[in-house]
Amino acid sequence: MKRIGVLTSGGDAPGMNAAIRAVVRKSIFMGREVFGIHRGYLGLINGEIKKMNLGSVADIIHRGGTILLTARCEEFKTEEGQQKAIDNLRKYGIEGLIVIGGDGSFRGALDLGKRGFPVIGVPGTIDNDIPCTDYSIGFDTAINTVIEIINKIRDTATSHERTFVIEVMGRDSGWIALESGLAGGAESILVPEVKFNIEQICDKLLKGYRRGKLHSIIIVAEGAARGFDIGEAIKERTGFETRVTVLGHIQRGGTPTAMDRILASRLGAKAVDLLIQGERNKMVGIKGKDIVAIDLDKVLSEKKEFDFNIYELANTLSI
Ligand code: ATP
Repeated sequence: MKRIGVLTSGGDAPGMNAAIRAVVRKSIFMGREVFGIHRGYLGLINGEIKKMNLGSVADIIHRGGTILLTARCEEFKTEEGQQKAIDNLRKYGIEGLIVIGGDGSFRGALDLGKRGFPVIGVPGTIDNDIPCTDYSIGFDTAINTVIEIINKIRDTATSHERTFVIEVMGRDSGWIALESGLAGGAESILVPEVKFNIEQICDKLLKGYRRGKLHSIIIVAEGAARGFDIGEAIKERTGFETRVTVLGHIQRGGTPTAMDRILASRLGAKAVDLLIQGERNKMVGIKGKDIVAIDLDKVLSEKKEFDFNIYELANTLSI
């Protein structure tokens, strides 16, 4: 394999640039040429393809977002769209493609794989909802962003003796809420994976108030409920002054943490190794301390496991 292509697709995530850098530099180190495809599958269909060199990825390891830009593309879901994509790849002599993105992007990648074009997926999404890998690129940065904000909200919550509800991202996954809730010392964490009981949440708040707690923080995953609805329900039942903050897209930005940069560098380099070794239709991931390769078919047939032990621990410690 002489020429490798790389693109980012779906929602952006901090650390994607570090992954692009790893793909480009490792490919060149291995004597291969590497091409960057702009705007994900949309750019692949439209032929937005440029050769990259060592300098194309200079000074990006610390930047959020993705220098290759990202997009969503309905046309790519059609047979004609995929054929156009393969034709463009062949036009540039690209023999293998590395797709950095979430599960939707991997479905697209596997479609190319099934049409005989070798692909490797690199998990990049703040939601951490991709199966067969402990973490995806961007998650660590996102939870660090959330706990920074929890710290700030704590200051004002304590001063005003208020209850704060913070709604975080994650789509159908509760991972951001879970880990930022534990690290931020939240009183309650609402996730889509566990049915919640608003009466119990309010009882806990009232108990805390009776023992002299000055503030309370409730973290709500967007897939579990709307933060504003939870805020209303708490106010109604407890009479506490309740404020709601919906964090939104700030969770997607910012300079990637060291953890995300290291993960992205390892996964990006491994993706190149796999293509060169003739592997195809795999995703690279991390299990414990090890970088692993898993069939994309398997990844897409499973659901990301939720860590109920961490959830229980967070409950225990916020008694
Ligand atoms: P995130 O989790 O951050 O949203 P994602 O990769 O899951 O990222 P999607 O919008 O689901 O984001 O997918 C990105 C792109 O991948 C889509 O715009 C489309 O071009 C392609 N894609 C998604 N699902 C499929 C599918 N079933 N078949 C072919 N291509 C797909």
